[in-house]
Parts: sequence; structure tokens; C-alpha cells
Amino acid sequence: MNDCIFCRISKGEIPSNKVYEDDKILCFHDLDPQAPVHVLIIPKKHIASLDDVGEEDKELLGHIMTKVKDIAKTLGLENGYRLVNNCGEDGFQTVKHIHFHLLGKRKMTWPPG
Ligand code: IMP
Repeated sequence: MNDCIFCRISKGEIPSNKVYEDDKILCFHDLDPQAPVHVLIIPKKHIASLDDVGEEDKELLGHIMTKVKDIAKTLGLENGYRLVNNCGEDGFQTVKHIHFHLLGKRKMTWPPG
């Protein structure tokens, strides 16, 4: 997807402050952090949202989930963290490339806004 900002970040066409990268996924700092630590974890493959995940993406999504704790450790989130996915209009998803927000280093509240 040429016009997808996260595809462009994953190809290195737009710079990002990277935390982790492998052949399938990328993690980088959010431009507008909502917590002292706020990074985004994305697959390099363009998938618009959780609504668009297919059977063929099971391994990729599982890969992301298994890396969360490692990324959290790298970022010093030993006291816990929050992992968030916003999906669709009501979920307030603004970038249409699936991503998981990893937030930490502050006490979170519930319910979210
Ligand atoms: P969403 O609202 O769940 O779709 O989250 C999109 C996130 O992407 C927001 O937290 C934005 O601050 C973040 N964002 C948008 N563009 C960039 C960028 O170029 N670099 C890093 N983060 C970005």
C-alpha cells in the first residue's frame, strides 16, 4: 500500500524511532505519546484492521503477541503495561494499518475514554 503511512515506515521511506524489528514486524515510538512509554507494534504486511485478519495471518498475529513481553522488557516495563488495539470508527482507529499500542510507566485507569 503506497499511501499507507505505516507501510511507508516499515519500508524505511518515513523515519521512525525503532525499538524492535525483524522480518515480520516493527515496533517504533508513537509520535504523540499518551504515556511516558508509548510504542506501536505493527506487522510489515498491510492488514487494515483486526476486522481484516484472516486465517493466513494467525502465525503473524501470534508472533506479535509473543514479542510483546520482550519489547516491554526492553522498555523497562517491569511493573506492567497496557496493550491496546483500536478497531474501526467506534474504536477510534485513525491509521488503517493494524497496530497495537504498548503503553507504560504510568498507572492506567479504567474504563478507557
Ligand atoms: P490509532 O488511533 O489507534 O489508529 O493510532 C494511530 C497512532 O499512530 C496514533 O497514536 C498516532 O500518534 C500514531 N502515529 C501516526 N503517525 C505516526 C508516525 O508517523 N510515527 C509514529 N506514530 C504515528
